[in-house]
Amino acid sequence: MQTLSPFVIHITAECFPIAKVGGLADVAGALPKYQSLERCSSKLIMPYYDNSYIKDKKVEVVFEHSLHLGSTTYTYQVLLLDPCYLGFEVYLVKIKDLTDRKEIYGCADDVARFTAFQVAATQFINSSEKLPDIIHCHDHHTGLVPFFTKYAFEFEKLKDIPTIITIHNAQYQGYFGYDKLYYLPDFDHKHIGLLDWYGSINPLACAIKCAWKVTTVSPSYMNELQYKANHLEALLMSESQKCTGILNGIDTQLWNPATDKMLVTNYDQKNISNGKQVNKQWLCEEFDLNPDLPLVSFIGRFVYEKGSDLLAESISYLYDKMGLEVNILVLGSGDVQTTQSLEDIKTAYKGKYSLYVGYNEKLAHRIYAGSDFLLMPSRVEPCGLNQMYSLRYGTFPIVHHVGGLKDTIFNIDMQQVKQSGVDKINGNGIVFHEVTSWNIAQAVSKAIHFYHHTYWFTAKREQLLAIDHSWPRSAKDYIDCYKEYL
Ligand code: ADP
Repeated sequence: MQTLSPFVIHITAECFPIAKVGGLADVAGALPKYQSLERCSSKLIMPYYDNSYIKDKKVEVVFEHSLHLGSTTYTYQVLLLDPCYLGFEVYLVKIKDLTDRKEIYGCADDVARFTAFQVAATQFINSSEKLPDIIHCHDHHTGLVPFFTKYAFEFEKLKDIPTIITIHNAQYQGYFGYDKLYYLPDFDHKHIGLLDWYGSINPLACAIKCAWKVTTVSPSYMNELQYKANHLEALLMSESQKCTGILNGIDTQLWNPATDKMLVTNYDQKNISNGKQVNKQWLCEEFDLNPDLPLVSFIGRFVYEKGSDLLAESISYLYDKMGLEVNILVLGSGDVQTTQSLEDIKTAYKGKYSLYVGYNEKLAHRIYAGSDFLLMPSRVEPCGLNQMYSLRYGTFPIVHHVGGLKDTIFNIDMQQVKQSGVDKINGNGIVFHEVTSWNIAQAVSKAIHFYHHTYWFTAKREQLLAIDHSWPRSAKDYIDCYKEYL
């Protein structure tokens, strides 16, 4: 008989507001909450990091144990974070000398850290009185769990529990050499091939092979992965019958311009013009920009996938070749060369271009609110949350037609703008089809052209706020996936 209220445990490396690098954290912080509202009891296991959010929160030690990576023994605790903070139970795995650090990723011993985390998380589930109906893993940091539950001797009890892997980003696979095979708990070596992809132990590939279901964060990304998946194409093709794309939602309680405490002023559809103007004014004062000009912003990690390496050149085309009157504001961090190229142009375009290097959640919220356009020249975008936040705050996205951006952003046809009533104008952003510096600059130029059709621009902008990308639909889609196995 089908279980009507499935019990699912999510395993993840990030979860907002506890620890965030990118979109994975936002999804992990929202999906369990919205699943619980849909009568699916959801809990989450993640590493304990040594950060200020966790430090002053109420936690209770619920499990203590040890694990072995080869001959080294690590003791660990599982701490339950009081559910009052996130609205669902979060278990933090604190492994002495491995996870209890400030860094989320990027340590030389990440393979040891995340293998140990996965072993501890699986041991914790194994020790529970009430086993979950589903174990839902997220990205490669949790990709070995579906293998452990099936083939590691100590987890025999878990072998029939369906596992799901959600690929938030297939670029990162976490592969490592067989010299670290001894990190893994003892398993039936008949199945060693399931760990392998092109001669390495590849946790993401392993999860694709071993999990009962593979999901990605948008339907278009799922299709793209069949021919562009950082060497996993053939595998995804052969496993395509168990693959599906489910578009992420956004947490509309957290991301709400009417109540967002991080904004300078709140607004809704009725007072959007004034509300956005006040937030824009603040940004312009803070970053020495001209409030009378349209404001185009970029928020994101400086990595090749995001197209951030082309920003500096595109900006110079905008000002020097096109002579556009526009403000550009960039918030991000990452690649050193990209950062340098964006620093280098500051003097030349003083007063209309500015840059904030670093991670700043509050500033990001203010940028979504105070900008006229948000630029996303991503080469790869599994789902993309920025464009959905942007719509929610009445800011038109300018996007490359790729991945989840294909599923959420539709081009505003300028011919229609000139000829039709506002209700007849399709689209919700500016879309371009090939990522080059020139195309980015041209797309921004089209956006500015639209901006100057003030009547249409303001009328259409009001409509953006009503676009529904909230979680309930996606949370239900995931639950439907689970129900296939219950
Ligand atoms: P990805 O996970 O690939 O980085 P997403 O679009 O899925 O991209 O999610 C990015 C999330 O990270 C958004 O919430 C965005 O606002 C946030 N973000 C990215 N860079 C920064 C930054 N420098 N400061 C604040 N927030 C940032």
